[in-house]
Amino acid sequence: MGDNTDIKILPVLTLRGLAVFPYMVLHFDVGREKSIAAIEQAMVGNQEIFLVAQNDPKADEPHIEDIHEVGTIAKIKQILKLPGNNIRVLVEGLSRGRMLEYIKEDPYFEGKVEACRDPEMEKVNLEQEGLMRSLLDLFDDYVKISSRLAPETLVSVSTVNDPGQLSDIIAANVLVKMEDKQDILDAIDITDRLERLYDILSREIEISRIERRIAGRVKKQIDKVQREYYLREQLKAIQKELGEYDSTVGEVEEYKSNLESANLPKEVKEKAFKELEKLSRMPSASAEGTVVRNYLDWIIDLPWNDETVDNTDMKIAAKVLDEDHYGLYKVKERILEYLAVKNLTKTMKGPILCFVGPPGVGKTSIAKSIARALNRKFVRMSLGGVRDEAEIRGHRRTYVGAIPGRIISSIKTAGSKNPLFLLDEIDKIGSDFRGDPASALLEVLDAEQNYAFRDHYLELPFDLSKVMFLTTANTLDTIPRPLLDRMEIIRIPGYTEDEKLNIAKQYLIPKQLKEHGLPEDGIMMSDNTIRDIINYYTREAGVRELERQIAAVCRKAARRVAEMGTKRVRITSSNLRKYLGIPIYSYDRADEEDEVGVATGMAWTPVGGDTLFIEATPVPGTGKLVLTGHLGDVMKESAQAAFTYIRSKAKEFGLEPNFHETIDMHVHVPEGAIPKDGPSAGITLTTAMLSALTEIPIRRDVAMTGEITLRGRVLPIGGLKEKTLAAHRAGISTVIIPHENIKDLEDIPDNIKNKLDIVAVKNMDEVLKLALVEMPEKSKNE
Ligand code: ADP
Repeated sequence: MGDNTDIKILPVLTLRGLAVFPYMVLHFDVGREKSIAAIEQAMVGNQEIFLVAQNDPKADEPHIEDIHEVGTIAKIKQILKLPGNNIRVLVEGLSRGRMLEYIKEDPYFEGKVEACRDPEMEKVNLEQEGLMRSLLDLFDDYVKISSRLAPETLVSVSTVNDPGQLSDIIAANVLVKMEDKQDILDAIDITDRLERLYDILSREIEISRIERRIAGRVKKQIDKVQREYYLREQLKAIQKELGEYDSTVGEVEEYKSNLESANLPKEVKEKAFKELEKLSRMPSASAEGTVVRNYLDWIIDLPWNDETVDNTDMKIAAKVLDEDHYGLYKVKERILEYLAVKNLTKTMKGPILCFVGPPGVGKTSIAKSIARALNRKFVRMSLGGVRDEAEIRGHRRTYVGAIPGRIISSIKTAGSKNPLFLLDEIDKIGSDFRGDPASALLEVLDAEQNYAFRDHYLELPFDLSKVMFLTTANTLDTIPRPLLDRMEIIRIPGYTEDEKLNIAKQYLIPKQLKEHGLPEDGIMMSDNTIRDIINYYTREAGVRELERQIAAVCRKAARRVAEMGTKRVRITSSNLRKYLGIPIYSYDRADEEDEVGVATGMAWTPVGGDTLFIEATPVPGTGKLVLTGHLGDVMKESAQAAFTYIRSKAKEFGLEPNFHETIDMHVHVPEGAIPKDGPSAGITLTTAMLSALTEIPIRRDVAMTGEITLRGRVLPIGGLKEKTLAAHRAGISTVIIPHENIKDLEDIPDNIKNKLDIVAVKNMDEVLKLALVEMPEKSKNE
């Protein structure tokens, strides 16, 4: 330490929470006896005193071990006696000092202190110089972000170019914590001191920055809250002035609590609260307010997160299906398989079931029954006549009176996000300039997309992936191909008379009795009476009309019970007319005459099988074929083929070889409600024409179906079951079918097969033998 150190014996004053640096002038008050004694001793000498911090600022009587080693040798400049034995001293720091050893403890501390002066400026090395510059830069930063510094400090710092002195001035002015100050005092070496101060200052700057950030944030929040509060108060005042105050505020509060308790997904909740915020700023009577209110009502009402728990017990499911529907074994079995798979895979992915069949066969009610079996909510949406995409997906809210599409509306009705959703009459969906509802529907049904179905109105994704979709259709022909590809078809073809009887007895009659408030044994009706209702008052593949007629019977019966106090109403074949009026249909084919040129065909239509009469008459002409009535293109071609076949066989049928040159053949298919098409009328057309040409009558109780080739072969057709059921309904006794359709007879109930004479044929000759009253004679003249 050389010339910079010398050793002095000095009185010691212990400082509490205070540090004095060299070159620093400051005053403090002293009250402790030991301290006053030390000052007095200093004043007796050359006024120099060793100022050093005690470890624990609270200790009144510190021991030597509790006093720091390094402190400051200072000169007392002035003393002022204060009231109550206190003294105020003004001191000036001279240099650092290090206590070497204490030589006295009482009445004051005294010891050998080594004075440690900083080296002369010339001895400052490059490293220190560099450190000093960095420190100055840092100090600059500090000044910028801290508002704690007095302007004088800046001036005094800027004039110093001695590194030791500079660090001491900065430390004295900047540092707050006692440990930091002591740390700098302890650093007798200049480099060490610069480094330590650099570290401390960096930390201080970081802390200041954070402080400022926090302060800024708090301030901003306070500002925003205050501003909003102010604006809101103003708004309230204005609304109050307009007499609208109470309703809006009360309403907003109510929405808030409803939204909170609605169990909404995060995204939905955020959006809803944004809308609510808008609402709170609108006058309550404004049109826009109504739009927002409607929107919020939708959001609150939709089952975003509400689910029902599926019944997974297949035995219960099977029982429910049996309870609700008679027969349909194959259908039920297929449904149970389907449910079992869904049960195992736990997703709604995979094909969608589509029940296809004529009206009234129970497609809708089966779907309802599945919902009951699964313990799911049931909703139904009819697609008949849906042409506009917006019906599926909704209108944007900017439209006046916009509401969500029917998918979302139905989900709201269901009240759970996993209902069984029946899309009825999917074959009746249309499309036009307003967009393609089928493609919107595809999105609804697509398991890859429907977990986030976007309705235009909601503008929020709704999860449809848990919904179980089912569809129904009368025919597959008009279902858009992409939709059809997603579906698995289950056909429900129609019921026989016996099946209808059982359905009526076990399901329809008990149901209607209940609905009309009649006891279980309220009406007595024999099987034969029920059969009469089926045969003379209905003609359908399903049982809808039958149910209506039974309802009519129940209505009348209920009236009798009410008016005459009858306990039980007996309904017989003979008094049925009193209940249902005169029969609507008759089947007495035996009474009808066999006719020339009228053949009975069987047709398959989307609403079940049907019988149809085909009429043919030759009129003078030039060999043309005239076709009228409700015929499709395929049927027209079929008629052509039939005519050509007859011409090619003219001789065999006893006709003039050129008979066609002087006539036109007119064929008419009386219009039914449903257009008929397909090749299966081929043999019927041929029979009708030939009968007309040969004037041989056709048996009225024979019905036929089959495609014909130019050579007279009979080809197979589809829909045999429906056709045979229809023939049976129509009172036909003999049914002619193509030979290749024999395998399909399996599907036809035995009691029908027993009642009908079903004949399978391979060629036209066989048909004619059965259908015509007699065979035409071959021409004798060559
Ligand atoms: P679809 O939807 O095929 O037009 P619905 O489901 O409306 O036919 O059925 C019409 C009526 O017939 C319903 O009351 C239904 O319960 C009843 N029904 C149909 N098939 C059966 C059946 N197999 N067993 C019992 N009731 C049936």
